[in-house]
Amino acid sequence: MAVATGLWQRARAVIPGGVNSPVRAWKAVGGEPFFVRRGGGAYVEDEEGRRYLDWVQSWGPLVFGHADPEVVEAVREAALDGTTFGAPTEREVELAEEIVDAVPSIEKVRLVSSGTEGAMSAVRLARGFTGRDLVLKFAGCYHGHSDTLLSDDRSVSCVFNGVDDVVRSVEHDGERLAAIIVEPVAGNMGVVPPEPGFLEAVRELCDASGALLIFDEVITGFRLARGGAQELYGVQPDLTVLGKIAGGGLPLAVFGGRADLMDELAPDGSVFQAGTLSGNPLATAAALVVLRRLRDARVYDQLEETGAALEAGLDHESVTVQRVGSMLTVFFRTDPVRNETDSVASDRQRYAELFHHLLERGVYIAPSPAEALFASTAHGPAEVEATVEAAQEFFARG
Ligand code: PMP
Repeated sequence: MAVATGLWQRARAVIPGGVNSPVRAWKAVGGEPFFVRRGGGAYVEDEEGRRYLDWVQSWGPLVFGHADPEVVEAVREAALDGTTFGAPTEREVELAEEIVDAVPSIEKVRLVSSGTEGAMSAVRLARGFTGRDLVLKFAGCYHGHSDTLLSDDRSVSCVFNGVDDVVRSVEHDGERLAAIIVEPVAGNMGVVPPEPGFLEAVRELCDASGALLIFDEVITGFRLARGGAQELYGVQPDLTVLGKIAGGGLPLAVFGGRADLMDELAPDGSVFQAGTLSGNPLATAAALVVLRRLRDARVYDQLEETGAALEAGLDHESVTVQRVGSMLTVFFRTDPVRNETDSVASDRQRYAELFHHLLERGVYIAPSPAEALFASTAHGPAEVEATVEAAQEFFARG
């Protein structure tokens, strides 16, 4: 355990809760988190020298696994030329072109540094464009920690997959509504896919009320398809937020959409938005290497194959495994999870037990039942088999 190195005590003395993002503290499963020393492919090694098969993958960004040699080399080369300029660079243009080419609804993008910043900026733009204030979001979806998108009096919350609930809200508040923001496949209450017709209904309600539709594809972007969930489900938002894979494993996120909307941003438009490290040279170098490799459709075939094999192997009468492509959650519940209420009603204690059972066998899954497991191309049949074997041993014990 981290106790031996004293890092956990030192961390807790100088960092709130010992971590720089709450989920890392393992509160949902108990125990003390390990401190990572290094990662390679599908594995991480902790400060004690223990090796874990890692299905967290930094919560989604690492589609080719840890320390991918091409990414490392691109970052190294970029760093030799300087780590930040605060002035335009060629790679920013190349990355913007790559994203516009990939994502169906995006005509222009702006680069930012985190998903929180991307979602917050998209909402600010929607408010500026529509001249309205209110944002409709969905319980159980997460869009970063800006005030409105956590919860304040300028937002209302509806039930995910609950079309009737959205209809009621739009009837009540439609004229005040600047935007509806949604994770097209929810990943922050565990993986919850949209039911047929849900995204289409939300799109229609936006059109009817004059609100903008924002897809938060921070997790799903470049993961479910090169064009994200909007390509997979064939529904086009007005604005899209990207992060995680879009930054190639470095701190970079994106918001983008229709050109007429994006042109409302300063300096040409009146909605102010800015960032000292936006379009950072190391991040754009990593992102370009990753996104260009994602032009090869075989990557998505492989991710689908790995995800499907893991889903099949984790099947058991006590759980419902929900998966879209390479993102998956094991819910200790027999009925499907359609929304946050269902997710919360799963047996979280059993999940915590599974987590620790797997960890003891060197397999690291998300330290919370409200998160996803992420496959990368570095996860092959051997990694699936090791995980399935350890999980089935757990199920067999009852
Ligand atoms: N949106 C979604 C869908 C997310 O999953 C996250 C983070 N997990 C965010 C936004 C916020 O991104 P960041 O942590 O980079 O601020």
